[in-house]
Amino acid sequence: MDLRFTPEEIAFRDEVRAFMRDHVPEPTRRKIIEGRRLLKSDLVEWQRILNKKGWAVPHWPQLWGGTGWNSVKLYIFRDELQQTPAPEPLAFGVNMVGPVIIAFGNEAQKKKFLPRIANLDDWWCQGFSEPGAGSDLASLKTTARRDSDHYVVNGQKTWTTYAQYADWIFCLVRTDPVAKKQEGISFLLIDMKTPGISVRPIQTIDGGHEVNEVFFDDVRVSSENLIGQENKGWDYAKFLLSNERTGIARIGISKARLHRVKELAALEQVDGRPLLEDEAFRRKVAAIEVELRALEMTQLRVVAAERKGGNGKPDPASSILKIKGSELQQAITELMLDVVGPYALPEQRAGEDSERWNEPPVGPEWAETLAPNYFNMRKVSIYGGTNEIQKNIIAKAILGL
Ligand SMILES: Cc1cc2nc3c(=O)[nH]c(=O)nc-3n(C[C@H](O)[C@H](O)[C@H](O)COP(=O)(O)OP(=O)(O)OC[C@H]3O[C@@H](n4cnc5c(N)ncnc54)[C@H](O)[C@@H]3O)c2cc1C
Repeated sequence: MDLRFTPEEIAFRDEVRAFMRDHVPEPTRRKIIEGRRLLKSDLVEWQRILNKKGWAVPHWPQLWGGTGWNSVKLYIFRDELQQTPAPEPLAFGVNMVGPVIIAFGNEAQKKKFLPRIANLDDWWCQGFSEPGAGSDLASLKTTARRDSDHYVVNGQKTWTTYAQYADWIFCLVRTDPVAKKQEGISFLLIDMKTPGISVRPIQTIDGGHEVNEVFFDDVRVSSENLIGQENKGWDYAKFLLSNERTGIARIGISKARLHRVKELAALEQVDGRPLLEDEAFRRKVAAIEVELRALEMTQLRVVAAERKGGNGKPDPASSILKIKGSELQQAITELMLDVVGPYALPEQRAGEDSERWNEPPVGPEWAETLAPNYFNMRKVSIYGGTNEIQKNIIAKAILGL
């Protein structure tokens, strides 16, 4: 198997690299490098720059704004974007509901939603998980009762990322309460402004507001917003979830963060010498670099198999990419903490009950984001199917156990 890029692919990589260098807004790039939270406006601005260039939804069919790139070019594009680093397009629209609408939606839905997703005119969120329905998603209890040309939705979703910004939510709802659990589920698009929807923030361990609970209380949704057929939503959800794992290794992001670790370790002094020259620290960096390179080889093998035609289905090896990719992302945030040692600790005020993440840092300014980032990265082995669930997939689909 040839894992090298062709001269044409190398020229394409250089073109993408130059575009990213010239067009990613510098304040946004700095925020990503420094591990600061991006604003909604940062993502919208960047998505529109990509859309103007024709690169907003490269993996979509050309009819709907795709580029026609093969899997290798898509890989190169994503890797360059992550390494720049540039914001990743909002996955809920571009990678999740967009492809579902393309594959299973009707013409009116395609015309209404797809151009707005590409331009991030509509911010989408994902309403799958519920209390009691995460890994075992088919246990979901939110109901949608048919009332002539409407559905009436009642129930609760949870862990809904960026629901506070969302214009629309795509939901799995139970439309047949007596059918076998996978068979009574439908896929519904719901306008977040509809009366009866409320959003409650969940504060995560990094102190941030990224996820929410979303409540539905007699929410009336036009049946025009049903995707495909009633009670066939589980098939569409499986399609969506298999797309969700593609590219989840985030190798480009890990490369960019490792680069940052080295930059900071070159600044930090230990016994009068830069930490980067410390033998023990160098060994740790090298171990992660080797693992990252090995992961990249695995990723390229998956991409090369797709280049040869593949079988049109997501490779179960993407579960390996998810596990290893998330472990490395977490390991790199641990290495970051090693760089600053005690400076990474949040300041605790004497006499106060709770830890305060937002106090001024006691170390260098760039150290203040490191502990929050370390905690925030715990999520990557949970969302998109936990790493234990990925191991189950590997056991079944690859090892045949
Ligand atoms: C930061 C973040 C953002 C998220 N964003 C969204 C979102 O936008 N929309 C959305 O719908 N959901 C979202 N999720 C939810 C995510 O998909 C679920 O958290 C995930 O599927 C796990 O479900 P759970 O939290 O209910 O845990 P559970 O399913 O209850 O699992 C608890 C533990 O048991 C283990 N476990 C469960 N079943 C098995 C099994 N069969 N074999 C082995 N181990 C098992 C799990 O690995 C885990 O360690 C998000 C989660 C996080 C952390």
